[in-house]
Amino acid sequence: MSTTAKRVKDAKIQEKFKQARDKKQARPKFSTRRHNRCKICGRPRAYLRKFGLCRLCFRGLALRGEIPGVAKASW
Ligand SMILES: [Zn+2]
Repeated sequence: MSTTAKRVKDAKIQEKFKQARDKKQARPKFSTRRHNRCKICGRPRAYLRKFGLCRLCFRGLALRGEIPGVAKASW
C-alpha cells in the first residue's frame, strides 16, 4: 500500500473515532487500529501528541520560532 493510501486510511479511522466521541455513536471495535500521524508530513513514528507533529516537523518549526513558548534547551 502506498504511503498516501496509508495516510488516507489512518485519517478515515481517526474520523470514525472522532464521530463516535461527538455523536455518541458506537466506537469502532478495535482501538488498536487507530494510529497517530504527523499533521504536516504524515509520518507515523516519533509523533508528539502535545503538538500533533512528528519530531522532524516539530524541530523545524521550533527552530524557526513558529511554536509559541518553545525554545531550544540551553543552560
Ligand atoms: Zn512531520
